[in-house]
Amino acid sequence: MLVLDGKIVSQLLKTEISQKVTEFKAKYHRTPGLGVIIVGNNPASHVYVRNKEIACKNVGMNSIKWDFPEDISEDDLVKQIKKMNELKDVDAFLVQMPLPQHINTDKILDAIDPLKDADGLHPYNLGMLWVNRQIVAPCTPWGVIRILKHYEISIAGKNCVVVGRSQIVGKPMAHLLTQADGTVTIVHSRTKNISDFTRQADIVVVAAGKKHLMGKNDFKVGSVIIDVGIHGSGLSSSDQREKSKISGDVRFDELQGWVSAATPVPGGVGPMTIACLLENTLKLAENRMKIC
Ligand code: NAD
Repeated sequence: MLVLDGKIVSQLLKTEISQKVTEFKAKYHRTPGLGVIIVGNNPASHVYVRNKEIACKNVGMNSIKWDFPEDISEDDLVKQIKKMNELKDVDAFLVQMPLPQHINTDKILDAIDPLKDADGLHPYNLGMLWVNRQIVAPCTPWGVIRILKHYEISIAGKNCVVVGRSQIVGKPMAHLLTQADGTVTIVHSRTKNISDFTRQADIVVVAAGKKHLMGKNDFKVGSVIIDVGIHGSGLSSSDQREKSKISGDVRFDELQGWVSAATPVPGGVGPMTIACLLENTLKLAENRMKIC
């Protein structure tokens, strides 16, 4: 079984981005900037944001973080987003999810300037993706496409099943696979006999958010398995014991000798998501410079 190593692929992508950032600086005499808005004290969110800041620094981009208390009102948060829309040094930004329950996520995403939408989650960008005029795609599914491309796993003509239909992973994933000429089925929490579908698939992307949901008997021999799920704390990323507790939606240990390739968790799709965020940021920065 080939282990699809997201750490290697993301590092290659980050090296490429870093070179492009150098060219950007030479051409426009400024540094691309990613903004991050974080609300509340969710420890996992703070770790993700910190990792994004480090990733920015490593490729030579600026990062700007605005931190707000858990009880910020929806209206005030929208006002802050509008301020960030206008901030000259910020080329793209994101609002870290999940948000506190009293805040409507759709309203927040709608308030982001689509031309600065680092996560590619604004309805305008999702719509553009849908009509095959991609500006930026949501980072996680785009990272999956990049891993498959890197390992020269062709999608065209393949039977693909996506497990999960969320706005940020499942649905855009299905669209990107369709765009790459795959024959795609989405299954979800209300689908009956899910393994009847996954056992027919050449490529399965599992994004159900259910720890160890699937194992070898859910898959066809020789198929390719992409595990998007992340479970477990893993918060102190420097602590190896904590890291080893992280697991995915797939029982990876069962796959050896059964499937042809699979992503591990950690070290598969996760690192690709941040690299694709940087890629989106640079793309939006270049687009801004062209219209300025
Ligand atoms: P979500 O909860 O928004 O959506 C889960 C989807 O899976 C839903 O559409 C639901 O219908 C479906 N589902 C739930 N239980 C199911 C079951 N038993 N069988 C089949 N389908 C089922 O989650 P999400 O935001 O799409 O994230 C999915 C997973 O991916 C989570 O574990 C999340 O932490 C992880 N994630 C990882 C990254 C990354 O960078 N690797 C990024 C985003 C999300």
